Amino acid sequence: MAASSTSLPASLYRDTARPPVATPRLEGHRRCDVAIVGGGYTGLSAALHLAQKGVDAVVLETHEPGWGASGRNGGQVNPGLKWEPDDIEKAFGPDLGGRMIAMGGGAPDLVFNLIRDHGIDCAARQSGTLRAAFSPRDAEAILRTAEAWAARSMPTDYLDRDGIRTATGTDRYLGGVIDRRGGMLNPLGYARGLAEAAIKAGAAIHGGTQVLSAARNGAHWELRTDHGVLTADRLVLATNGYTDDLWLGLRKTVVPVFSGIVASEPLSPAQLEKILPCRASVYEIGSMTTYYRIDETGRMLMGGRSVLSSRSGPENFLALSHYARRLWPDLSDRNWTHGWNGRVAVTTDHLPHFHEPAPSVIAALGYNGRGVAMATAMGREIARRITGASASELSLPVTDMRTIPFHMFWPVGAAVRIAYGRIRDALKL
Ligand SMILES: Cc1cc2nc3c(=O)[nH]c(=O)nc-3n(C[C@H](O)[C@H](O)[C@H](O)COP(=O)(O)OP(=O)(O)OC[C@H]3O[C@@H](n4cnc5c(N)ncnc54)[C@H](O)[C@@H]3O)c2cc1C
Repeated sequence: MAASSTSLPASLYRDTARPPVATPRLEGHRRCDVAIVGGGYTGLSAALHLAQKGVDAVVLETHEPGWGASGRNGGQVNPGLKWEPDDIEKAFGPDLGGRMIAMGGGAPDLVFNLIRDHGIDCAARQSGTLRAAFSPRDAEAILRTAEAWAARSMPTDYLDRDGIRTATGTDRYLGGVIDRRGGMLNPLGYARGLAEAAIKAGAAIHGGTQVLSAARNGAHWELRTDHGVLTADRLVLATNGYTDDLWLGLRKTVVPVFSGIVASEPLSPAQLEKILPCRASVYEIGSMTTYYRIDETGRMLMGGRSVLSSRSGPENFLALSHYARRLWPDLSDRNWTHGWNGRVAVTTDHLPHFHEPAPSVIAALGYNGRGVAMATAMGREIARRITGASASELSLPVTDMRTIPFHMFWPVGAAVRIAYGRIRDALKL
């Protein structure tokens, strides 16, 4: 049996995550009920939930489980969708809207329960998600958000200027809201643990196996790889920001924007007392999202804007380490040991998408930087649909695939947005 690919990009998680499970490449011809392309949270969660219902599911992954965004993200387990609950209900009605809100709000519990039930070693902590505002306009909006969340009895607390200063240890913010359902984990460890749980439940995972083509053959799908062929009754496309041209047009339904992260060496005990003492995962409201947390070893992980190509090494993300020092000047004596980036799949409506582009085919993608919890929940929805739930029973709408106009210009558009975001954020200082 061939070993799985060892092309995992350099990151803190590559050094700290639990070891991978063996995922030998697909050799020869195999048959299964459901073929899943992509071994991130979407594909792995779908495989786990399908296998638990006795469905023969096979994941094919070009590299290894967690190679994509799932193994290199900020590790923030964020509740909810990008839209506010009131807006979701207005747009989708109380029935579907209510299910969407429940899915987004319940997604962190799904993640933490899976971790507990399957004994996944990934430094998981349900220590809350803090949304922080530094401009007066955003601080006002956050107060309204906090009131709306409280009216829905969500487990959230508003933090005024003093409160957020105490929670974060910086003077930067004017207000914030903390959602106790959120938290953090080691993303690669979680992906590897999900892979192991899926295999134990009866799924198969083949790493080092890029799907080169998917074509109908009578009632089945035939997936060709370099070394084998997989025949399946159903096909799931779970490739998110790394979507290629396997399924015509799917790549152009999302914009794959790069996000980067730097990690420091562990903070000193005195620094740990003063810097982000609340230990929540934090993300800022701003034109460009900046997010950060302190991990279980006391390292600061600061994420946000990135160059628009794959890079590793902290020297490639100086804007992020400078920003961390600006928030906490005390950090200046710490070295930054790691830096890396990856692709976030953004949709034009900022909602994740569930498509059925042909009979017996599902494509699910577009988490807009919130996939740790949402992609896990999406995998469960995929399994529900395949095992008999009607489209109208799902927790999100099944929509047509829509190509984003002028998609080929996205790198230029993203660069302009980053520059524009920097200027806008600077003006708010
Ligand atoms: C730097 C960064 C920070 C982020 N921070 C956060 C965060 O803090 N919180 C949060 O909630 N979300 C965050 N996200 C987003 C989150 O990581 C993603 O939404 C989530 O991991 C998506 O999971 P996925 O399984 O859909 O896709 P991925 O994990 O990207 O997996 C897709 C997989 O498909 C495979 N693939 C593609 N084409 C083929 C093919 N033809 N054949 C076989 N395999 C194929 C790829 O190799 C890849 O492994 C972040 C993302 C990045 C990049």
